[in-house]
Amino acid sequence: MQSGTILVINCGSSSIKFALVNAQQGDFALSGLAERLGSAEAVLHWQLDGQKHDLAIAGADHRAALAHLLPLVQQVAGNQLVGIGHRVVHGGEHFTAASRIDAATLAAIRATAPLAPLHNPANLQGIEAALGLFPELPQVAVFDTAFHQTLPEHAYRYALPEVLYREHGVRRYGFHGTSHRYVSVRAAELSGLPVSNSCWLSAHLGNGCSTCAIVDGQSRDTSMGLTPLEGLAMGTRSGDVDANLFGHLSRTLGWSLEKIEQMLNQHSGLLGLSGLSNDMRSLEQASAQGHAGASLAIEVFCYRLAKSLAAMSCALPRLDGLIFTGGIGENSALVRSKTVAHLTLLNLQLEPTANAACVRGQSGPIELPGHPRVLVIATNEERQIALDTLATIQLVTDVN
Ligand code: AMP
Repeated sequence: MQSGTILVINCGSSSIKFALVNAQQGDFALSGLAERLGSAEAVLHWQLDGQKHDLAIAGADHRAALAHLLPLVQQVAGNQLVGIGHRVVHGGEHFTAASRIDAATLAAIRATAPLAPLHNPANLQGIEAALGLFPELPQVAVFDTAFHQTLPEHAYRYALPEVLYREHGVRRYGFHGTSHRYVSVRAAELSGLPVSNSCWLSAHLGNGCSTCAIVDGQSRDTSMGLTPLEGLAMGTRSGDVDANLFGHLSRTLGWSLEKIEQMLNQHSGLLGLSGLSNDMRSLEQASAQGHAGASLAIEVFCYRLAKSLAAMSCALPRLDGLIFTGGIGENSALVRSKTVAHLTLLNLQLEPTANAACVRGQSGPIELPGHPRVLVIATNEERQIALDTLATIQLVTDVN
């Protein structure tokens, strides 16, 4: 494995998540979040040697926040810092792997912005700020979509007129690729199987949720599509709905495109169904106290998830195991058991004590002996981004 420390940066429109990742060490020496950037309430939170710190950085933009971070990074990493890895949401069809950032990479990320109008411009802001502040360091873009570029055409094409694909890039891309890749490699390691000969179903269940079918280390199908709205019911996203809903709401309620998009992305999913919260932990508590909306939201979430996993199984020649990850997948024994209960046709069954024990980062197998593997695996997208960054830098150095 390559050595060196990588600064991993994940920029949103008003936030930057960061971590200093050393490929040889499990824990991050430094990690944190700058949020509410561009406002008077801008603040930098970081964790260093287990201690939490906060600093008000009123009015700071992405560049100013990174400038505040710079001395901390230098203090912790010193001359071990060998590069910066940026999470970029959408790489379109252009990027099938991580890419060293240069003028051509920047232009291609910019050209992909129409496919991710909220995310890619924010990612670019972070990259440009980091290039200004760390001009001497190699920087790498790691794409959420790249892992899914191995989908076969019958999985990535919509049944729409071909011109929309050929001329406008309308196809299924998939997201959460960094997480699905990381946990499927870990699953193979934990099971003593070679990645190159292993078949997994993976469920990444966070505030955004997706499933993936992974064969021999390659994504063969996934539930998200052109955008991260497709597929499962999520925290605030609806997942699949009848596409005619747009016309229906426009005609019957006079809703604008923007209003419908906002409803589907921000007011639906667990939040919309429960009328209470997008947070699974809150819903589990409310459901236990008899809140009907919370119970319904959990039932719909699990049933839709099971249906998606069953659909993903069409892409597998055999099943070596089902992986649960993300905040919900890693912590909710209830969601795991309700989901697997719908999958008896795949012969899946959980061992209740093992299932209950897998919370707060505790990974492990939770299936009943004699049934296909079910694994809870803590995802670590920062670590995967750091590994991809190191590999990309190494590759470029070797070629030069
Ligand atoms: P993420 O986006 O991966 O951080 O996941 C966020 C989701 O994980 C939220 O819906 C949380 O409520 C959920 N989550 C975190 N811890 C638990 C828990 N102990 N039980 C149920 N859901 C949890």
